[in-house]
Amino acid sequence: MAEPQVEVRRSKRRRQTVSAYRDGDKIVVLLPARMSRAEEKRWVADMLSRLQRSETRRRSPARESDEALIQRCLELSARYLDGRAQPRGVRWVPPMRTRWASCTPSEATIRVSQRLRDVPGWVLDYVLVHELAHLLVPGHGADFWKWVRRYPKTERAIGYLEGISAAAQLGIGLDDDAEEPEAAAR
Ligand SMILES: [Zn+2]
Repeated sequence: MAEPQVEVRRSKRRRQTVSAYRDGDKIVVLLPARMSRAEEKRWVADMLSRLQRSETRRRSPARESDEALIQRCLELSARYLDGRAQPRGVRWVPPMRTRWASCTPSEATIRVSQRLRDVPGWVLDYVLVHELAHLLVPGHGADFWKWVRRYPKTERAIGYLEGISAAAQLGIGLDDDAEEPEAAAR
């Protein structure tokens, strides 16, 4: 993921507290109005590293290996898809040009772009549920989304992925070649 943009906002109402949050691809740091430039610099660096640490903690254990990834898929299938999606293989693959992930329903295999290794766990989970749902329903019709939306953070995760794709000008859509026989990615 690209280096974040940082926006510093100073507030007169704010006396002591410094805080920071992520707004899409940007990080907003809130500072008291009367802070010196030197203090500002120190605090911004400090808040960025704190935020990064907390985001790192929220990454998925599935990032570690293909085994961890398939394990996560089985958990998600059990939890959201009544255990009906049973992938035979799930792998991390080098970044794909236009896709976050893809699946081949006839082989029950799923490939996930390494670009997703550092996203929060709940975003990766959405991608996995999406691909797993293709093992049940090819294409992106209403039946497909009925399964996917059982995962409660679906809309938020779609927004997150659009945000990082736009920010990095990657033009990546979560789409895949699930519509057999030939890919019909949107
Ligand atoms: Zn899809």
